[in-house]
Amino acid sequence: MHIEFEIIEKFFSKKKIKAYKGIGDDAALFKKDDNNLWAISTDTLNEKVHFEATTDAYKIGWKVMAVNVSDILAMGASPMFALLAIAMPKPNNNWLKQFSKGFFDCCKEFNIELIGGDTTRGPLSINVTVLGDVNKNSVLLRSNAKIEDDIWVTGDLGLAALGLKIIKKKIKAPNVVTKKSINALEEPKLNQFSIDKIKSFCNSAIDISDGFVADLSHILKASKVGASINFKDIPINKWIKKTGHEDLALYGGDDYQTILTASKKMRSKIEKLTHKNNLNLSRVGIITKDKKLRISDNGKEIKLKKGFTHFEKK
Ligand code: ADP
Ligand code: MG
Repeated sequence: MHIEFEIIEKFFSKKKIKAYKGIGDDAALFKKDDNNLWAISTDTLNEKVHFEATTDAYKIGWKVMAVNVSDILAMGASPMFALLAIAMPKPNNNWLKQFSKGFFDCCKEFNIELIGGDTTRGPLSINVTVLGDVNKNSVLLRSNAKIEDDIWVTGDLGLAALGLKIIKKKIKAPNVVTKKSINALEEPKLNQFSIDKIKSFCNSAIDISDGFVADLSHILKASKVGASINFKDIPINKWIKKTGHEDLALYGGDDYQTILTASKKMRSKIEKLTHKNNLNLSRVGIITKDKKLRISDNGKEIKLKKGFTHFEKK
């Protein structure tokens, strides 16, 4: 969705004066006290664009909170407060009951308090803003990846994109895979535990909302570096691999997993933590000086799809 970035750059980019970090990361940052920063992020889900009218309201409630929390976690921050702005054509008690249950279940999972919002009439659209806090020494900016950093990824990639293909009847999968992937799409589970365990050893992070290649390239661009990735180390669901749909893991969106980079000096510490706590983490490659993204399979470079030329141009 490059057009989105062009719009932001052309119409909404202003010099930041008071913020610690303005536009350009998963969340904006501003001073909380001498040692800590607030992280704030907002995301909207619109009917017919982000979900169909038939989607379970519980899942919409869960997801609209989870996608925001994902951005807060990607700053190394802990979510605390939320605002909920909702526009709907006409109130439907049953829908609202299910929606609010999903919403508050997600709040409970991440210890978030709803402190305000707005309720209006209009086409169904839900916007959430989440506020979290982070110690200023442990904040994870997209722009802080260092050459030779290891690149780590939480969870499995590609399942949500597969779920969307299945719903649109573009791909047929066995029942278990179908259920798992539609769940990944509609009710994303975040890996806060894995992120929290290793974040103090990391230099940078981003959450994967637009696809592994697109989001990793945001880190590369912001940090003015490149990356060398081993295709076989990317955590891809077995069925997706077996059936040759790996593109879903490279370019598919909505994973809400997290890419983190950490000095290779931290590798053994992170590996020990992974082992001890059974973390859902994969080491997929390294940050390079050469400002390109290379993904290799058995020593052979994979030709990346168009979308990526945007980064190469700059
Ligand atoms: P994410 O996927 O992490 O939520 P986005 O890709 O949506 O981030 O946005 C990229 C950056 O642009 C973010 O820092 C976001 O806050 C900012 N941004 C998006 N839309 C606007 C807007 N209309 N005005 C100002 N900043 C925006
Ligand atoms: Mg993000």
